[in-house]
Amino acid sequence: MKVNTAIQSKRLALLGDLPRFQSVLHVGRPNVGSRERLLERFNDMLDRRWFSNDGPFVQEFEAKVAAIAKTRHCVAMCNATVALEIAIRALELTGEVIVPSYTFIATAHALQWQEITPVFADIDPATCNMDPRSVERVISSKTSGVLGLHLWGRACDTEAIERIGREYGLKVMYDAAHAFACTHRGTMVGGFGECEVFSFHATKFINAFEGGAIVTNNDDLATRLKFMRNFGFSGYDKVSYLGVNGKMTEACAAMGLTSLEALDEIVVVNKTNYEAFEKYFSGLQGVSLIRYDKQEHNNYQYIVLEIDPEAAPLNRDEVVDVFHAENVLARKYFWPGCHRMEPYRSLQPNAYLMLPNTERVASRICLLPTGQTVDAGMIASMAEILETAFQFSGEIKDALGKRQK
Ligand SMILES: *Cc1c(COP(=O)(O)O)cnc(C)c1O
Repeated sequence: MKVNTAIQSKRLALLGDLPRFQSVLHVGRPNVGSRERLLERFNDMLDRRWFSNDGPFVQEFEAKVAAIAKTRHCVAMCNATVALEIAIRALELTGEVIVPSYTFIATAHALQWQEITPVFADIDPATCNMDPRSVERVISSKTSGVLGLHLWGRACDTEAIERIGREYGLKVMYDAAHAFACTHRGTMVGGFGECEVFSFHATKFINAFEGGAIVTNNDDLATRLKFMRNFGFSGYDKVSYLGVNGKMTEACAAMGLTSLEALDEIVVVNKTNYEAFEKYFSGLQGVSLIRYDKQEHNNYQYIVLEIDPEAAPLNRDEVVDVFHAENVLARKYFWPGCHRMEPYRSLQPNAYLMLPNTERVASRICLLPTGQTVDAGMIASMAEILETAFQFSGEIKDALGKRQK
């Protein structure tokens, strides 16, 4: 364990001590399955000389993802952003689509990239997921769909969102980038709405270096998605659709398959870490750990702290600065909301007026490192850092103030 032992009285890097960790701890450091299996697969792939275009590893990966998500189809893609773009196109969404602002920027960009306006809905502060009442409030005559999100793997209120969809004739799809192998009321995420999109980026729960997939139970949609991911080709010399190149490579599928084999192991590591965070961070004033419903399956990929600036001695930004000084690269996912980033900030300068909960929650959230490279001892050290920082909060504020000058 890479913890510095030469620590003095106040034990904080911002107050002149050595950083607690000698090397940087990252949020979303990749989880790695069996090296041997991966290299075996690479050898198979090289022997076959089949590197892309619906290769055997991609097909196997799609079958396994569909089996886990319990959907009829899985269409693998080069990444989730392109998958979102293709899904949006295949569903023929136009005009305006309602999305939460409290998400990774790709959710909004996938719409704006094809000149569809993302209209931002607010979140429910209790779940941090999109509030269906807010969705209803921003529906206009131009609205064609709703793009929901299962933030941190906790499913959004799909029942209410889909009820709104039916009532107003809107197509509903989900960005399920965080929610692979998670359930909602006992049902696997994957089959909700018209389709759902997973990300297998290196930082996600299951990774394929880079990768994404669209899962759906709609046969026609699946067919269109497959054509669109491959330039619209429907035969050797026949193009039937407008298409793009969204294909997953065999190397990525080999990594994806190897990660899938380690799925249960990774969940155990993440859950054990989550329980250690619960234990060590429970007594900290004004700090709460986002909860995962024990009745549901979750991948426990994200350790999310909410810092109440009224109750905690330091606010979220100060806490993040404290951690960074100790080589713990805490992150503010997702701050600021999409509506505060370009081009939305210029295009929709008043959007924030409709997003009070997004603004408030985004200013209080801090994600900490977990996964295979983090253990209970490191988690105890992270808690100790925060405890000490709270104890010396006045001096920390002074040190941060001086640093800014
Ligand atoms: C990571 C992520 C994406 C983008 O996934 P890529 O595979 O990196 O393109 C989209 N939406 C959310 C919510 C994400 O966290």
